[in-house]
Amino acid sequence: MARIDDYRPIVGDQTIDELYLLGERLKNITIQNVNSTPFGGGVAEILSRMIPLMKDLGVDVWWDVIKGDDHFFQITKKIHNALHGIELSLTREELSYFLEVNQENAKSIKKWADIVFVHDPQPIYLVKEKRRLKNKWIWRCHIDFSNPKRDVWLFLKKFIEKYDVSVFSAPAFARKLSIRQVLIYPSIDPLSDKNKELDQKFIDSILERFGIDKQRPIITQISRFDYLKDPIGVIKAFRLVKKYIDCQLILAGGGAKDDPEGERVLAEVREEAKKEKDIHIIHLPPASNLEINALQRVSTVILQKSLREGFGLTVAEALWKEKPVIASWVGGIPLQIAHKYSGILTYTIEGTAHWIKRLVNEPEYAKRLARNGKQHVKNNFLILRQIQDYFLLFLSLFNPQDVVYL
Ligand code: UDP
Repeated sequence: MARIDDYRPIVGDQTIDELYLLGERLKNITIQNVNSTPFGGGVAEILSRMIPLMKDLGVDVWWDVIKGDDHFFQITKKIHNALHGIELSLTREELSYFLEVNQENAKSIKKWADIVFVHDPQPIYLVKEKRRLKNKWIWRCHIDFSNPKRDVWLFLKKFIEKYDVSVFSAPAFARKLSIRQVLIYPSIDPLSDKNKELDQKFIDSILERFGIDKQRPIITQISRFDYLKDPIGVIKAFRLVKKYIDCQLILAGGGAKDDPEGERVLAEVREEAKKEKDIHIIHLPPASNLEINALQRVSTVILQKSLREGFGLTVAEALWKEKPVIASWVGGIPLQIAHKYSGILTYTIEGTAHWIKRLVNEPEYAKRLARNGKQHVKNNFLILRQIQDYFLLFLSLFNPQDVVYL
């Protein structure tokens, strides 16, 4: 595991020294993160990298994962989709089961911290404990919140407003709330297995393992198998390109413990691709970080054709590897890509296909986009910046007058 000082050559001494100072000021405050899956998806990805680094800075921080059965996670996936603006309704029974499972989890948590940092809606009702514990509570939303279904939003709003502060990933997600709202961008870890430099021999071995041809262009999307990542749209765009360019598609990803739809989506994607030559559907087990890293590094162009997206860590991961990225103009993605400067933003399957052709045919242009993209990630979306933002947020809960620029 990387230590904080290992990041000095990447971000400079000043950033690291400031982090030590902030960590010192937090040394008597405990922090507890709570979410609903230990792997799969961006929240688990960030927590698994961030917590050891925070500890290395001397902060007493830990991570609890709530438990639930299939019924609970089906309900929470519905809530997730409704917040993303998908048309669906939840029954009274489902909402009360959601609250009940939260209460059971609250009972089974033995140790509470000075700050409870709750991620996303699944554990949101734990905040009921705040009255008893009289500690500080943060609710962090990682979801594209620009157009939530009203009834689900109103249901959650009651609980959100019990927190001390809420955190969103993009300005467009801010809502009318009676509590303080803070904007903090997600981030990637440049020294994780997912993002660190790899040697060519290892990369070649991964290509061989998955039967991918290094000589022809490779178009890749890495994502959980989720409708909102539009894997079928990716296949359709690829087919439009394939008429003109002899290339290959990689759709690689796995599932998450809190996402019950994954298997169904994977089956549909396999059916759509129907063993078509040059479409590689790769189902990855959890912790396939080196494989994902290698697949991103061998790609000619990386796609993120999401229909909704909180932030899209996969975009930052690809840009960090200096890859040209074509992604949808949704959610947090435009924070990462300035169209035609640090990547390409599209709205449609046809637009995606058009830009794949262009970037494959114009490698110099693609390289320029990729270079700008990497610089943008370096300036804004590396994990140390996010740790600094969180530390300032934690301090602001106790001494708001000391932290003037949040
Ligand atoms: N990821 C992974 N395995 C997979 C699919 C995705 O490790 O099978 C990682 C991916 O590299 C990224 C994160 O999970 O770090 C996904 O975060 P993102 O914000 O792109 O989407 P989310 O899944 O949270 O909607």
